[in-house]
Order: sequence, then C-alpha cells, then structure tokens
Amino acid sequence: MIYDNVLQAMGHTPLVRLNRLSEAHAAQILVKFEGVNVGGSIKTRTALQMIESAERRGEIGPDSIIVEPTSGNQGIGLALVCAVRGYRARIIMPDSVSEERRKLVRHYGAEVIVVHDAGDIGECISKCIALAKRMASEDPRVYVPQQFENRDNLLAHRYHTALEILEDVKGPIHGFCSGIGTGGTISGIGQALKRLFPDVCIWAVEPESAAILSGGSVGTHLQMGIGDGLIPDILDQGIYDDICVVSDEEAINEARALAREEGLLCGVSGGTNVVAARQLARQLGSGKTVVTLLPDTGERYFSTELFED
Ligand code: PMP
Repeated sequence: MIYDNVLQAMGHTPLVRLNRLSEAHAAQILVKFEGVNVGGSIKTRTALQMIESAERRGEIGPDSIIVEPTSGNQGIGLALVCAVRGYRARIIMPDSVSEERRKLVRHYGAEVIVVHDAGDIGECISKCIALAKRMASEDPRVYVPQQFENRDNLLAHRYHTALEILEDVKGPIHGFCSGIGTGGTISGIGQALKRLFPDVCIWAVEPESAAILSGGSVGTHLQMGIGDGLIPDILDQGIYDDICVVSDEEAINEARALAREEGLLCGVSGGTNVVAARQLARQLGSGKTVVTLLPDTGERYFSTELFED
C-alpha cells in the first residue's frame, strides 16, 4: 500500500487489552493507543477534520494563516496537517506545557507564540484564546479553528475514533472513560456509544487540581492536555454518568506502570484515563468491557516529571 501523503495513514490505531494492570473479578480494560497515530497523538484526527471542513465550507484558501490556542497536541496536529496542505500555521500555547511540544510545532514548520502561565491554567488558556481572536480580527487571512468551540473536533471522534473502537471490540461496551481537554473525545465517542449501548457507563475524568466539573478550583497540574480550567462549549455535559478525580501522582505512577508492565509508552493523561478505567472496571465486575484511550506518546514528556525517577 502506498499513501499519497501521511494524512492518509491517519487513525486505525491499535486497541490493546491490559494484562498485568488488569485485576481478577474486574472488567477487561481495552486501551486505544493513540501514541502510534500519525503525529503521535489523537489530536491529528481533529486537526484534519477541522481543516478539511473549513476547506469544504470555503473558509480557508491558499493564503490562509491557521492560528490556534492550544495546550499542546492540537498545535502539533495542526502544524503537521498545515505542513502537508501547505498552509502557514501559528500556534499559541501556555509556557507550562512541555518543551517538546513547542519544539515539535516548530519542527513541523509552524510559528509558536508562548503565553505565560502564572499558576492558573484556565486563565492562561483564556488569554491564548483571546489573543487568537484578536489576530483574526486584525488580519482577514487568519483562520482560527477554535477546537474548544468547533463541532468538527467532536465529529472526528464520533465518526472515526468511535467507529474504529466499535469495529475492533465487535461486542458490547459497558464502560468508557476519558479526561477532558476540549471535551471532543468524551462527547464524540460517548454519543456514538450511548446510541448503540444506552446502558454504557461513561465517566468524565479530571485532574484533582483542576476539577472544575466537580466544582473544584483551578490550579496548575501535571496532566497535560486535560483539565484546562474551563468548561468547553463542545463538551456534552449530559454524556457522562459520573466524574472521577485523579491526582498527579496517581496519573504519573499509572503512566509509568503502563510502560513498565504493558510496554505502552503514553503521556500522563493516558495514566489518568487508566486510573479511572481500573476503578470503573472494578465497579462493573468481570465479564464486562471497559474502553479508554492513551491520547499521546510518552516521548513528548522527556523533560517532565514523568521521566524523573
Ligand atoms: N490528553 C492529551 C495528552 C491531550 O492533548 C488531549 C487534548 N487536549 C486530551 C487528552 C483530551 O482530549 P479532548 O480535547 O478531546 O478532550
């Protein structure tokens, strides 16, 4: 098989059963390993969906400059998609995200603008969004996909990520859980699952220091990509049945265990998801199936606590 460009190789990531990290008398846990997706994360899917839809609607053309506020992976995904499609890209991100993210965006040929995170990630992301909107109002070539408001973000998961999961599981799914950045993953996959399995139990997962859905206050945390300190427009707040709160320490330990016990090298939010999935699996019991995702590769965390012994 020869692909005309790397974007055609998008998705179809493996669904892997946890072995050593699964427990007797608990449901089986299947993880969708997005670290091996094109661009190293789940967010290349949403980047392509948002850009292709904007092209179809005639909102962007050869002169367009794609500007996006992001806590990281969406910027890398957009920089990659723009490299293939030939658009200029400018990515606005907090300085609290890993250095690897900034370097990767630049490596794909996009410009990076860094906004200082003074200890409140929500405030910083809001500043990034405001800056992108200002650029759009000042330059007609600027197009802001705005992943937090863009339904194509959610649809990428409802139409593609969820479909892949359903094709691979080939049977009922009893539980699903996901951390929330833009809410695209949980809303898109959740909607697809609830249509087919109305009784599926869906958990939203939040970092302890940014448990905004649980009414908590927002600080800085280490679970990059989730817990951005705002309730995103595209989050379907009716899709989850419960909320699970995970500490940085639990998430990091689980992400390390996934590498050491299962050979799955993922970022911290993958650890977050698996902490919640194990609780959900215990609650549902044996004979059931719980699905979650490892949203990105652990290789973009070398400079972070994840790799500190
Ligand atoms: N984990 C990581 C590492 C991410 O980059 C993201 C995207 N922000 C998520 C989880 C959450 O995905 P979503 O934006 O679809 O809620």
